[in-house]
Amino acid sequence: MLSRRAGADPEADDAAMQARIAYDTCPLCRSDNFTKIVDADCSQHPLYQPVIPPVMHWMACGDCGHVFTDGYFTDEAAAVIFSRVMEYQAVGWEMEKQRAIFSRIVERVSRHVADGVWLDIGFGNGSLLFTAAEYGFTPVGADLRQDNTQALIHAGIEGHCIDITKFDQQGRFSVISMADVLEHMPFPREGLAAAHRLLNDDGILFLSMPNADCPLWRNLNARNANPYWGELEHFHNFGRPRLYRFLEESGFRPVHYTISERYRVGMEIIARRVA
Ligand SMILES: [Zn+2]
Repeated sequence: MLSRRAGADPEADDAAMQARIAYDTCPLCRSDNFTKIVDADCSQHPLYQPVIPPVMHWMACGDCGHVFTDGYFTDEAAAVIFSRVMEYQAVGWEMEKQRAIFSRIVERVSRHVADGVWLDIGFGNGSLLFTAAEYGFTPVGADLRQDNTQALIHAGIEGHCIDITKFDQQGRFSVISMADVLEHMPFPREGLAAAHRLLNDDGILFLSMPNADCPLWRNLNARNANPYWGELEHFHNFGRPRLYRFLEESGFRPVHYTISERYRVGMEIIARRVA
């Protein structure tokens, strides 16, 4: 894979070295048996800033097969990266087009649960919640960005600026969606544990993320054209088999799989909460 070291400024290198906290163990199975498989340049990423190391190191767990970056961002580095807001993250962005795209997701979810309170984690532009509301769900959004949360509230939807792991509304929700969220979390096990706690007894979880274990992913690798190795915001590459085991380990039974029309190599999974 590509590997390029940008700049030779020792101060920048010092800052770069402190930007990530190294994983001591695999974030899914806690094994310390993991090795580096890929180095990738992330310096061309739109959110890249020089305090961030320009090369991402990807590890593979020798015990469970999970693939993850060598470390996750410190709070300081994360604050620098997320100080920039991408256009598509603004509440109301491309509302009409997004409504049609998300209607297909809401319809699939509504085959498993007809109504109730729908919590979207990391709601971004809010399109999923606007659409869920139209289908009769009561929409609630949680996001780490304060201004985005205010914009959602301004649009008439209950919003919380909070980390899902700290959200204290046990059993309130019929649906929790984490669209393109789990691969951004330093410790996704905590994310699924929180979703399990917040859902009601047979609540439904919706997940989406790239599928790092499929023919298209390998095809992109072979052509050195896989955009996800340099995806600065991701700490994990989940393949469907490992994700399914992870769901079972976390108290969820997968009930539906499809590919995503929203992102390259994306997968979308519906899972039901079990005891
Ligand atoms: Zn592992």
